[in-house]
Amino acid sequence: MRFPSRTPPSRQKIDNSIRSDFSVRFFQQAVAAILIGLIAFLVVIRIAVPDQTVRMVPPAIGIVLMGVIWWLIGRGRLQAAAMLFASGAWLVSTIICLFYGGVHAAIVVVFPLLVVYVGWAISMRAAAGFTGLIVATIIALVLAESMGSLPTPPPTPLAVFLVVQITYVVVALILVGSLVLVYQRRVGELERERQFSAEIINSLPGMFYMFDASGRFIRWNRRFNDATVYSDSELAQMKATDFFRDEDREQIAAVVSRVFAEGHADIEADLVPGQGPAVPCRFTGVRATIGDESFLLGVGIDISEDRRNQAKLEEYRQHLEQMIEARTADLSIAKEAAEAANRAKSTFLANMSHELRTPMNAIMGMTNLAMRRTMDARLLDHLEKINQASHHLLAVINSILDISRIEADRLVLEQIDFTPFAVLDNLPALVGYKAAEKGLALELDVAPEAGTVAVCGDPMRIGQILLNLADNALKFTERGKVVVRLRLAEDTADKVLLRFEVEDTGIGISANDQKRIFAAFEQADGSMTRKYGGSGLGLAISRRLARLMGGDITVTGQPGEGSCFVFTVRLRKSAGAVAPAPTFEPGKAGDRLRQDFAGSRIMLAEDEPVNCEVARTLLEAQGLVVDVAADGVEAVALARHTPYALILMDMQMPNLNGADATRAIRTLPAHARTPILAMTANAFAEDRLVCLAAGMDDHLPKPVEPDRLHEAVLRWLLRSREKIGAGAAGSAVISS
Ligand code: ADP
Repeated sequence: MRFPSRTPPSRQKIDNSIRSDFSVRFFQQAVAAILIGLIAFLVVIRIAVPDQTVRMVPPAIGIVLMGVIWWLIGRGRLQAAAMLFASGAWLVSTIICLFYGGVHAAIVVVFPLLVVYVGWAISMRAAAGFTGLIVATIIALVLAESMGSLPTPPPTPLAVFLVVQITYVVVALILVGSLVLVYQRRVGELERERQFSAEIINSLPGMFYMFDASGRFIRWNRRFNDATVYSDSELAQMKATDFFRDEDREQIAAVVSRVFAEGHADIEADLVPGQGPAVPCRFTGVRATIGDESFLLGVGIDISEDRRNQAKLEEYRQHLEQMIEARTADLSIAKEAAEAANRAKSTFLANMSHELRTPMNAIMGMTNLAMRRTMDARLLDHLEKINQASHHLLAVINSILDISRIEADRLVLEQIDFTPFAVLDNLPALVGYKAAEKGLALELDVAPEAGTVAVCGDPMRIGQILLNLADNALKFTERGKVVVRLRLAEDTADKVLLRFEVEDTGIGISANDQKRIFAAFEQADGSMTRKYGGSGLGLAISRRLARLMGGDITVTGQPGEGSCFVFTVRLRKSAGAVAPAPTFEPGKAGDRLRQDFAGSRIMLAEDEPVNCEVARTLLEAQGLVVDVAADGVEAVALARHTPYALILMDMQMPNLNGADATRAIRTLPAHARTPILAMTANAFAEDRLVCLAAGMDDHLPKPVEPDRLHEAVLRWLLRSREKIGAGAAGSAVISS
């Protein structure tokens, strides 16, 4: 029987197994038994020796005490009850001894035992205290008796004697019985605990062991026996470091010390068993303090499998690295091949562009010249048809080259400052005649803030999308109108999103066809091609261009109710205001040239005789004096001696190409600022950049329309004249 609360926490845990209903019940039963004994004793005294009232004092005190104890137990205050029980027992036994025979009273044996026992139940300290009290009482009684100072005990009648003896026997039996029961119970519990912990440590997935600070093994599990191949008796004689190779022992001892010092440590080492090969293990140790002694509780796990896996993993890793290296080498070869193929494709496209445009320039130029020279109506009609067919062919060539370049990721967008209005402004001039031919109205609806915002981008490509949409709208509309709108969809500090709409009242497109028409070579109705013509590339190019410019293109509408194409482009705002390019009335640039610059000397560097003839004729027709250089070397030589007003430079020429010739000419002081315009079949944006980088001022892609040639030449002659007027007056750059 143990009582909690006074014991330290760790003890309390251990004692929990003893503290049970049984203990409380037993305590209550003991109190009840003593109470009954005391009452019986009191009754017997009252009947047998009513004259010895003093005898009634101890049982009466005892009865009151037991009553209070009973009440305390009922309130759950076991500790207080036990203290009162032990002190009361001591008090009653002392009084009895005092008045009824000193240390000879039988009570001297039973009650002190009872007192000490209950004291032990409370705590070891209480047991010691009560033992001291009892010993002191006995010594005092012995001394008092030897000095004869104890009162003479009254004669004890037999009944009283018997009741007292029976009470003693009952109390003694309860005492011994409880001790035996508690002991058996404790032993049983300890055995169960031992089996339980043995079960636990045997079921651990690795070796378990426990040794003390001197390295002596205290406990271990079966796996430890199996792993070390030592019996229990052998292990009991061994120390922790005995299972390792000599060279490892120092390290193991250090780790063991660390566990005892820091509470935790682990190590990987090879366990050397009694027989068989060493086993790689991971050992984890923690310090456990039981009482005043520290122990190391350790777990060892066989990591042979891990090691094997690690080795395999390492092998795989190395293999993988080799494979990756090989693959990377293959990939880099493939990449180089792909890059080479891509370069070849780009070169092919550039060459194709050049190869196709050069004869187109000749065909279109010669047709144009012939048209200017003949008055024969039939011949003019034939030539006009050739002209139209060449334009159509040129449009197809341009589309095919564009889509090929977009798909090869080779399309370069220009970054030029412009205002959207400039792009829209061209539209009536380009397609207005088609609207007029079909009796359709072409309306422009431009929000002022959208039209005038200065942006940086590729106006030529935006114009291309717009032209394609407007062209389609006019092509697929028989009556009604075509409206072109421009709005500012978004306007942030540094960017704008322009939204163009081209709406028509034409044949419309079904919802199904709307999904297809943006794919390359797709037309809403293949059979319509025969009626309307077209390559099916325009919208595919438009969508890709719009997306390249950070926007998109969509279509809405119903068959029979017209279509509305919307495309957006996201453009950077340009830093300053954009000066509008000078525009000339269509077809009037040639006249202006003749008026203002007749006699101006210009150089035409062109190796291809037909193209040379076309350009020369077109320029001479406006009164310009044209010197022809057949290649770059000749161009530089001519420039060295002649101060030309303007130079037209082909790019691909024998001996020295146009870019290098320009660079050389720019080193000549007289030509540092002479307008040099590339007139070349290298028509792509990057070709334009090459020209500008070489020091040229502008780029006219072939085939060059006569009007465009005249406009460009006029524009640059005017600029040159302005600069000279403003700057170096009297300079002899332009000679007439
Ligand atoms: P194409 O050169 O054949 O016009 P596009 O890619 O420009 O090629 O157009 C693809 C197809 O989309 C056209 O063939 C036509 O069927 C349809 N389409 C384009 N625009 C319109 C429109 N405004 N109205 C009706 N159908 C159109």
